[in-house]
Amino acid sequence: MTRVLITGVTGQDGGYLVEQLLAEGSEVHGLVHYGDSAMAAIAVAYPDLHLHSGDLADHASLARLVRSVEPDELYNLAGISSVAFSWQEPILTAELSGIAAAVLMQAAFELQERTGRRVACVQASSAEIFGQATLSPQDETTPVRPISPYGAAKAYAHHMAGVYRGHGLYVASCILFNHESPRRPETFVTRKITAAAARIAATGQGVLRLGNLDARRDWGWAPDYVDAMVRAARHDTADDFVVATGHTHTVEEFAEVALRSAGLGERWRNHVEVDPELFRPADAAVLVGDSGRARRELGWQPTVGFKDMVGRMVDHDRALLRAGS
Ligand code: GDP
Repeated sequence: MTRVLITGVTGQDGGYLVEQLLAEGSEVHGLVHYGDSAMAAIAVAYPDLHLHSGDLADHASLARLVRSVEPDELYNLAGISSVAFSWQEPILTAELSGIAAAVLMQAAFELQERTGRRVACVQASSAEIFGQATLSPQDETTPVRPISPYGAAKAYAHHMAGVYRGHGLYVASCILFNHESPRRPETFVTRKITAAAARIAATGQGVLRLGNLDARRDWGWAPDYVDAMVRAARHDTADDFVVATGHTHTVEEFAEVALRSAGLGERWRNHVEVDPELFRPADAAVLVGDSGRARRELGWQPTVGFKDMVGRMVDHDRALLRAGS
């Protein structure tokens, strides 16, 4: 039986990964931050998941956890997950999204040396490592040039994945472009939009205030991206893999599709306003990924298109509203 350790199980991707791995019969261990209010819900949702509480900033206990679980696969999904928040807490972001990844890789390397078994690590990297990319689409050879504390922390972890790979540890770095689902918090523009679309549809009134409507992202369906990480862990050779749809849409397009899907038709425009306060100090250039390597080598491809994804998120938010939550 494959034994798996996942950091960040309370996050969007963590939940989907736990579900996928439990369904295939793996023994799944998850690290949760001390006092995380989501822990009780996770324990109820996944009774077969082995939960461990800890702190990514406590290096000794992180290494102890890897030693005691002895995973065959280690997925590092934990850390600060928002560019916007990383501007408020740049040092914490470096610690949790950068240094902790290196601590885990060193612990996995020591475990591999001690047991002689392959410990396959997957680092959940991010398109934000490319920052102001001058070439589009981005692939695994695109220069790493972050422009946010989040991107810089992720860039460090991405480089360390390459360093440990050269040192003999199996580490795949999955460069994940934006990936969304109904489990995204509303701090992300996608869920903010779909939750607002549901509220506006329910009452026929209300305004959705957004920042840069022209910002473009390559948005994919989160469970597809989790599946890419599992494939990357089980490939013959560790590598970097861009995981992306290859198509971009603007924030405005996302809002239009969401509001139309909620039934507002041509009236969608009346419900969108621009708020200059919501603009970013620095926003990544057009990030669009070329996932050719993942498609060729991992046999991966996205299964849910843009409109379908937005529709699913809106449907979920409308159902939540109807259920009174
Ligand atoms: P990110 O790509 O990880 O930063 O994901 P976000 O969902 O937070 O932001 C995606 C893009 O939407 C960025 O370019 C933001 O500048 C833009 N954006 C426009 N309006 C908003 C808003 O109201 N909230 C957020 N979070 N982003 C917005």
